[in-house]
Amino acid sequence: MDPHTLASLHAAVRDVPDFPQPGILFKDITPVLSDPRLFSHAIDGMIEQSGVTSVDKVVGIDARGFIFGALIAQRLQAGFIPVRKKGKLPYRTRGVDYALEYGTAHIEIHEDAIAPGETVLLADDLLATGGTATAALDLISALGGQILGSLFFIELSFLQGREKLRHTGPIHALLTY
Ligand code: AMP
Repeated sequence: MDPHTLASLHAAVRDVPDFPQPGILFKDITPVLSDPRLFSHAIDGMIEQSGVTSVDKVVGIDARGFIFGALIAQRLQAGFIPVRKKGKLPYRTRGVDYALEYGTAHIEIHEDAIAPGETVLLADDLLATGGTATAALDLISALGGQILGSLFFIELSFLQGREKLRHTGPIHALLTY
């Protein structure tokens, strides 16, 4: 991606202090989504950076990961698989509990979403501590998916989520803060 486009994407992400709680600097991606040119560059840039040209399934994490994951899946002519918060998926599920900064959370995937041996990319808007992505990757592995990599629009590098994901395949982030 050319440096000018990358700088435009950087500039478009809006910092919202103290959301959803005091001390968190929230990276608001909605100004990128609302600009068709920037949004398209973001999707193309994420795919280009990964070097992946063919994959069976793209898994997106509830909820902003759906936005990026679904478009990445369409561009790569892959299937899209949602990983959702507890109790949202209608069919039989596989689930995993994981630790958040405060307390725990639970995410689920349909048990037939990925066939053993299928290639899979994970997509989410932002890599923070890596807890959510690690849990999603655990679910993909449990179904026998072959992980080609994890794609994020943004990485908060100071939280070192990348360290947590180190053993799960290549990690790509278009913007780093
Ligand atoms: P984590 O499990 O800590 O990597 O958190 C990742 C999830 O939390 C991502 O799906 C993000 O959407 C969200 N998230 C965490 N921190 C932020 C932040 N500072 N700004 C926006 N979203 C965030």
